[in-house]
Amino acid sequence: MRTYSELCKLTVRELIAALAKGETTSVEITQAYLSSIAAQNEAIFAYLDVYTQSALAEAAQSDERRKAGKLLSPLDGIPVAVKDNMLVEGRKCTCASKMLADFVSPYTATAVQKLRNAGMPLLGKCNMDEFAMGSSNENSAFGVCHNPWASDRVPGGSSGGAAAAVAAGMAPVALGSDTGGSIRQPASFCGVVGVKPAYGAVSRYGLVAFASSLDQIGPIAKTAEDAALMMSVIAGYDPRDATSDATLASDCTLRTFDSLAGLTIGLPKECFGEGLAMPVYHAVQAAAEQLRAMGANVVETSIPSLPYALSAYYVLSSAEASSNLARFDGVRYGYRVKEYADLDELYRKSREEGFGIEVKRRIMLGTFALSSGYQDQYYLKAQQARELLRYEFGQALSTCDALLTPVAPTYAYRLGAMTADPMEMYMGDLYTVPANLTGLPNVSVPCGNATEDGVTLPVGMSLLGARDSLPTLLSIAAAYERETKPNLGIRPYEHLRKGGESA
Ligand code: GLN
Repeated sequence: MRTYSELCKLTVRELIAALAKGETTSVEITQAYLSSIAAQNEAIFAYLDVYTQSALAEAAQSDERRKAGKLLSPLDGIPVAVKDNMLVEGRKCTCASKMLADFVSPYTATAVQKLRNAGMPLLGKCNMDEFAMGSSNENSAFGVCHNPWASDRVPGGSSGGAAAAVAAGMAPVALGSDTGGSIRQPASFCGVVGVKPAYGAVSRYGLVAFASSLDQIGPIAKTAEDAALMMSVIAGYDPRDATSDATLASDCTLRTFDSLAGLTIGLPKECFGEGLAMPVYHAVQAAAEQLRAMGANVVETSIPSLPYALSAYYVLSSAEASSNLARFDGVRYGYRVKEYADLDELYRKSREEGFGIEVKRRIMLGTFALSSGYQDQYYLKAQQARELLRYEFGQALSTCDALLTPVAPTYAYRLGAMTADPMEMYMGDLYTVPANLTGLPNVSVPCGNATEDGVTLPVGMSLLGARDSLPTLLSIAAAYERETKPNLGIRPYEHLRKGGESA
């Protein structure tokens, strides 16, 4: 018999084993996580909506299937949380915006439907930056989410709620979305694993669009292996997403590397310069040494155009956002002001009141970048930089199996520390945006700690590879986890005094 708090510490792989041995049930696991949410959500605010009743009902159905020997998938019975920008039919989808505060989803996103088809009970919807724009979760219209490692710090963003939920033992695993780092950076700030799959690997159908050429859904998990298990559930061709790529394998089975001999890992020199916090630099360099000790050939490499990535990303993502968010006009759906003189005023006032400051900033930035007279100067230039980056990453990956960099230049900072200057916040996306611009898969894996004012905070490393390399990247990460776990001592939520009520 395990206590609820013990169940909340197990990985998905361990939960699957406990279920198979009949040591626990899906109802018990789901109840354990719901108790953990009840105990911690007020303090952390990782969830915007909790599906207590339906999650337990779905868990009971899973237990019935298990008794009948009719499991739907290896993850049948494992509960899961979803970022609040993915549609679940009949449920609210707010994108943490006043604009969609009362919006009820008319259908279910493909990625979420795949979780359902796999028999995974849905725990609820996670907090985020409004419309996924931000890096700290402070842009949520409903309140900030707190980092489980230190409540006065940000969990990262925009999938801050999903990462905090997994790190605090409030979900065994979660889905986030990533346009420029929104899965990987919060994973790094919260000490968990985050995966941005190759563009086209996971269907975007039913994901509220931010920047359609960059958006991808991916898992946030306690371990690389758990993330891989989730990828095998959610990946795959979907005729409802025109950018879905049928040539990418949906299976994400990992290899067990006894040694990394034969693998070349490149460290782009542009990623280790100015602006990088020393504890992050040291943690990632130590990870490089560790990978070398495990047999990998670790070499220096170069992406000369990397300094242009951030500007290109903010021009392109804002341009796409300005056109994607035009649909929120207070007419078809979304917030509508009560009083207006004419149609123009209805649009203007509804958007003025419905959107938060950061979303408005992106819309204005994007509209400006696309305006005639400036299009060549900004949008076209950014497209050219994107093409250059694609080429240079292709070159680097022709000799390297993976590129190792920091995930973010810092570890989790204090709430409010970056809100005064949006540029400073944008700079934190330096290492994550290239994967979205190039469409390449990228994983974020805990690789060490930083200590500040007596608190220990996690640091993440980024492994990026060729389009079809995700199983390799996660296999390297899993091998690294096996070697370092005892030393790093940063298994999520083990630092938490209160991880859920006892059974
Ligand atoms: N922080 C980045 C931004 O604000 C990335 C967001 C994301 O990936 N959704 O645009």
